[in-house]
Amino acid sequence: MSRIASVLLPLPLPEAFDYEAPDGLELAVGDQVAAPLGGRLVTGVVTGLREGAGGNRPLKLLAGRLDAPPLSPSTLEFVQWAARYAADVAGLPLAIALRGARAPPPRPDRMAMATGRLPTRSTPARIRVLEAAAAGPAMPADLARRAEVSAAVVRALIDDGALELRFAPPPEPFGPPDLDLPAPPLNASQAAAAAALKAMIAEGGFQAALLDGVTGSGKTEVYLEAVRAALAADPAAQVLVLLPEIALTQALIARVTERFGGAPGEWHSGVAPPQRRQVWDAVAEGRCRIVVGARSALFLPFRRLSLVVVDEEHDTSFKQEDGFIYQARDLAVVRAKIENASVILASATPSLESLRNAETGRYRWLRLSDRHGEARLPDIRLVDLRQTPPDAGRWISPPLAEAMAETLAAGEQTLLFLNRRGYAPLVLCRACGQKLTAPDTDSWLVEHRYTNRLVCHLTGFSMPRPAHCPHCGAADSLVSIGPGVERLEEEARLLFPEARIAVFSSDTVRSAADARTLVETMEAGGIDILVATQAAAKGHNFPNLTLVGVIDADLGLRGGDLRAAERTFQLLAQATGRAGRRDRPGRALIQTWAPDHPVMQALRAQDRDAFVRTELDEREIAGLPPFGRLAAVIVSGRDPDALEAFVREMAASAPNAEGVEVYGPADAPLALVRGRRRKRFLVRADRQVDLSGYMGAWRARVKPRGSVRVTVDIDPYSFF
Ligand code: ADP
Repeated sequence: MSRIASVLLPLPLPEAFDYEAPDGLELAVGDQVAAPLGGRLVTGVVTGLREGAGGNRPLKLLAGRLDAPPLSPSTLEFVQWAARYAADVAGLPLAIALRGARAPPPRPDRMAMATGRLPTRSTPARIRVLEAAAAGPAMPADLARRAEVSAAVVRALIDDGALELRFAPPPEPFGPPDLDLPAPPLNASQAAAAAALKAMIAEGGFQAALLDGVTGSGKTEVYLEAVRAALAADPAAQVLVLLPEIALTQALIARVTERFGGAPGEWHSGVAPPQRRQVWDAVAEGRCRIVVGARSALFLPFRRLSLVVVDEEHDTSFKQEDGFIYQARDLAVVRAKIENASVILASATPSLESLRNAETGRYRWLRLSDRHGEARLPDIRLVDLRQTPPDAGRWISPPLAEAMAETLAAGEQTLLFLNRRGYAPLVLCRACGQKLTAPDTDSWLVEHRYTNRLVCHLTGFSMPRPAHCPHCGAADSLVSIGPGVERLEEEARLLFPEARIAVFSSDTVRSAADARTLVETMEAGGIDILVATQAAAKGHNFPNLTLVGVIDADLGLRGGDLRAAERTFQLLAQATGRAGRRDRPGRALIQTWAPDHPVMQALRAQDRDAFVRTELDEREIAGLPPFGRLAAVIVSGRDPDALEAFVREMAASAPNAEGVEVYGPADAPLALVRGRRRKRFLVRADRQVDLSGYMGAWRARVKPRGSVRVTVDIDPYSFF
């Protein structure tokens, strides 16, 4: 008999492995351990301990326990729940949960500290620095920022002997939040919503609320009140606020820092590994009490999570599409349930799923129907492109150009919204008619002029724009078809040569710092016309922005998938909602070829409820989410015959179950990606069916061979 530890490894393996625990090693569930695997040591997490014999083969001996915080039992439970939900192996969500644990810790660095000697000359700036330094060692740059002086002042104090530089570990970044700082007084409807949220938190246990308020109604102010209440209710309580975009985290971090007197933990792919490690350890040890992050923050090892806020909850960026596939909004509700915590979903355009949950009473429904203060919702007008089209090769219609000229003349700002990166979405050869596509992938190459390359947005493949057609060899025959934001910028410059124009897309804004700079320039009035993809069309408040022009409102409707109408409505309502903050009235012009489409009519009339009603009714008749469940299976492989044989076998082994329909296999709309052919199944199930269980059982019946891979996507958002 010996002690056996089940260890889950952060790898795509089907189950936890058993190891023998060395004598004398103290172990508990949740501990991080070093486990030998195929000749190397892997960090894993103990999921179970028992006494027993190892079976026929001796078990491998654990190499030891890491000197690192354990995963809380609820974190572990969440990881296992998420895996079952996704019909996937638990090692994948565990890898997300351990991402910060395995990052290198910050190294000791040169810190400035006070020597106690007075400077030879005292100026107000120098005194501010010395006051800031009294709080403890700090990086010189941080000290300068805290004292609001230039780096030169800090340097001068070092030269002068009043400060010295010494190697020291970086200071603990997360102080306790200050819960007594003044907050702006809430208006009556905000106060009512905040009171309801506070009552929910005071009641305790798992609770969910939908904070449904028009753009600019002050949802952030309201949920920050709830955050304060949750932190005040329990000195160990932790709060997580999830946002869909890194660009949005920056604005919220600034607001949280001001509101609670210190920076929250920041968690997204742009955070450098040492800072991640700091956040991870501090969250696991309960020192970091507020986290603002993107979807993967949901997997942080919270010790006492008492409130989760999902802001812009409708945003499809919450759906993670590669690797471990999950919908962070849905998993946020699950995590809250496991933690016995509250969850607040906030949006001006909630998802139909959440609206349905509010309608049926599963979520409390808190509505804010007016903008705060003097601000009013913008006037929305449809521009019928059939009647007032732009000139050939142009995309700004005469009515929009006129409105832009007026806005410019009034010294106000315009946002041109086009959800397309690059210069042109398609390049074709005038001589042979071929459309340029990526090698090995069924998708058009997008022209980028800033870099002069053709890029596949699906795989990242890129090549210089060729001088000759790669198909027929003709010279100077390639033409750029359609607009992207770069081309729109070009047109705006032609129309308004004197205007200050900037582009906000994931190509021009590559980091959180870039986003902050651009947003600050816009807020300060340093930009007249901002040409933007969805990266800038949501969440931000630009006080002097009074005109939003939507260039191609029909773009998102063309795919025709389940959520096309819903997504288009949300995106355009958000984009047009950027216009008219504070006391300046705003307007939005939506260019469309289909002004009679229900989405366009609902946007024009600002009648979200009518749109939602029609959409929900249609979904109910078809048994589609939120009334039924969907799952997709993508099967891919390099060898077409082997793939064909495998999907047949898979079709034959689909379990029979009541209330489940399996469609396919069929060629996926993107039938070739990176040289792999793709087939898909679509599964529809009634609401009460355990679709995750069904998909897990199906998956277990088949064994992919050779290059064949199976991906299961529960509740798919993309149908490629
Ligand atoms: P939402 O999240 O609903 O779009 P925000 O919380 O960002 O709205 O608020 C929009 C703007 O109005 C922000 O600039 C915010 O500071 C301001 N605001 C909202 N409520 C108040 C309030 N009660 N007092 C002062 N300013 C407010």
